[in-house]
Amino acid sequence: MSKIRTHILGYPRIGEQRELKKATELYWKGEIPAPALESVGKELRKHHWKKQQAAGIDLVPCNDFSFYDQVLDAICLFGNVPARFGWDGGSVSLQTLFAIARGARDSKAAGSECCGGSCGSGSAGFASEMTKWFDTNYHYIVPEFKADTQFKLSTTKIFDEFKEAQALGLNAKPVLVGPVTYLTLGKVQDSANPDFDRFELLDRLLPVYEEVIAKLAAEGAEWIQIDEPVFALDLSERQKECFIESYARLAKAAGSAKLLVATYFGELRDNLALFLGLPVAALHYDAVRGEAEVDALLNAFPADKILSLGVIDGRNIWKNNYDASLAILEQAKAKLGAARLWVSASSSLLHSPVSLASEKKLDAEIKDWLAFADEKLVEIVTLAGLLSGSGDSAALEANRASQKRRRESRRIHNPAVKARVAAITAADGKRDSVFAVRQEVQREKLGLPLFPTTTIGSFPQTAEVRAARAKWKKSALSDAEYDAFLKEETRKCIEWQDEIGIDMPVHGEFERNDMVEYFGEQLEGYVFSQFGWVQSYGSRCVKPPILFGDITRPKPMTVGWTSFAQSVTKNPMKGMLTGPVTILNWSFVRDDQPRSVSCKQLALAIRDEVLDLEKAGVRVIQIDEAALREGLPLRKSQWQEYLDWAVESFRITANGVKDETQIHTHMCYSEFNDIIGAIAGMDADVITIETSRSNMELLDAFVEFKYPNEIGPGVYDIHSPRIPSVEQMESLIKKAGAVIPAGNLWVNPDCGLKTRGWEEVRPALINMVEAARKLRAAA
Ligand code: GLN
Ligand code: ZN
Repeated sequence: MSKIRTHILGYPRIGEQRELKKATELYWKGEIPAPALESVGKELRKHHWKKQQAAGIDLVPCNDFSFYDQVLDAICLFGNVPARFGWDGGSVSLQTLFAIARGARDSKAAGSECCGGSCGSGSAGFASEMTKWFDTNYHYIVPEFKADTQFKLSTTKIFDEFKEAQALGLNAKPVLVGPVTYLTLGKVQDSANPDFDRFELLDRLLPVYEEVIAKLAAEGAEWIQIDEPVFALDLSERQKECFIESYARLAKAAGSAKLLVATYFGELRDNLALFLGLPVAALHYDAVRGEAEVDALLNAFPADKILSLGVIDGRNIWKNNYDASLAILEQAKAKLGAARLWVSASSSLLHSPVSLASEKKLDAEIKDWLAFADEKLVEIVTLAGLLSGSGDSAALEANRASQKRRRESRRIHNPAVKARVAAITAADGKRDSVFAVRQEVQREKLGLPLFPTTTIGSFPQTAEVRAARAKWKKSALSDAEYDAFLKEETRKCIEWQDEIGIDMPVHGEFERNDMVEYFGEQLEGYVFSQFGWVQSYGSRCVKPPILFGDITRPKPMTVGWTSFAQSVTKNPMKGMLTGPVTILNWSFVRDDQPRSVSCKQLALAIRDEVLDLEKAGVRVIQIDEAALREGLPLRKSQWQEYLDWAVESFRITANGVKDETQIHTHMCYSEFNDIIGAIAGMDADVITIETSRSNMELLDAFVEFKYPNEIGPGVYDIHSPRIPSVEQMESLIKKAGAVIPAGNLWVNPDCGLKTRGWEEVRPALINMVEAARKLRAAA
């Protein structure tokens, strides 16, 4: 019986206790020198390789580690450093790498670090843009191209890490972002040649790839992994040609080394033949996202290649179902033979938390259903063993028992919730009257002036607020003391808003740690890990809550706070909720039912909250859907299906209220052009959006669509510490007023204020109110 090989595409780099995050931040603060950070990196790499080895993984990756981001590492490897960072053309230093990601401190880039590097344009060494890696919550640094961009091998990281593994007795598999993915993910930033086609750069880029590959081969690499996840996207003819040209050349450059090209995150569809035709030794396929396509893949799979099948979900936290995976693997083995089949995870494990071992507080029943990266290593090896016939049958039995417990658990399955979802009708998502009618009723009830002013919800989460929460969590502050503290903060915040003349106050969200966690903690069907961190960007990690069961709301979640807040002021208080789509998109979700069903369960729970708020006399309710756009599938052909259930979920949540109750929604970081129909379909009475940085350009979509309801285009960039002047905001509102009827316009910041300090928020909002007053006077 021949043994089936195992490997992974990548391992999380942050460390079980976020060691890399901590060291990197100390380095940024100047508290540790570069060599100290380097040595933390080295220790982590070694630790991660040892763990993989101990689990029995045959082929471990290297260069999957990064101090910030693997695309940024590629930018540095190719010497693709934007000119503004003053790079001397030598070996790219760690300092330059961080400058690209976060802005250069010593050039006039003072503002560039306010939000982790995503803003600050306008200053000399402003950071490169970052954006989401496909549909994950990981963000990569966007390569920048010009018509005259040249590439040159400029770092030794990939070789160093290969040698580092060699010194530990491992023939590791270096990992590199592929050329077509690299060019696809980058952007042309060339004012002289804005229409330059970035794929023209392929001929300049490929020699560097050839050099890297040849060098790795010369150093003894047996396998080299090249990631081309763009295979999961709709590809143009140009991109397809680039694939053919690239791999013809790279295959030649490989010499004694063998190439593995990896695709993940989705089906291949019309790219299947192209992928299977690549002249390389092995291909990796995501059999989790692409399960339905495995038959087609196997039927067409070429006789000369190895197939790596990713049957373990690299992006979610559920224990693998061995029987289901074995069914797929057996099928592949029957077609290809054991020697041509490798077992792996669907994608890099970068997107899952590190280890369940540190979870001491997780409910034992639920913990039994989970697998983080370390547990996934064991799953891969166990499956390969079972497939080889030499496997651990006790592990298979244990897995079956665990799957059965999960399938049958009362903690997960609540017949009443399922029945309620099944009984949803179109009427649940419909307001009594059309917007024009509601607008009249609300105008009369709320009595707001023209250009009403409001904010997006949160006010500064000061060190004091965070300290009080930390003390309370450690029981150093009693419930009553903490409650009194929060009430006082809330009261002061509302009184201040009244004093400066904000027309529609908010309570400030001081009681909330996070806009999803706050609700997840109060809903049945959610659990929280202690250390389930996943890298989001750079040193920033998120700990998504785990949605494991049918969702119920045991009791009202915000009614107490909102009613208290309303009692402080005569102005209409805007109650604040997070919408179902955002809660879903920022959680680890169930794999035993469609996302749409989980979303509708969330929708019903929050609908109950909306109706309870209305009953308690709250006249305005904002339902944030900051992450609605994030959930869009990778392929355009699947967008409509997602948008349909996402919009329906919002409508179920929001639209059970009376005409007189005003529903707001808020969205940030969004482009609206291609989803404006869906946004309008939500039928919120008011939508607030981020527009100040785009100089109101984001409004175009609303104008073109003739969006009928009210809009608050943000006039104050909350990502920057700069305080906007009255004139600046006045001119932005005027710009919006030129295209949106004045009666439909609100005046508000781009987003919540929780990351800002009061010293910035106070003058900025005073100016904002003044800008609205001046416009009113002129109207
Ligand atoms: N209400 C939230 C806040 O103000 C909205 C945050 C968001 O859109 N990301 O913080
Ligand atoms: Zn926002």
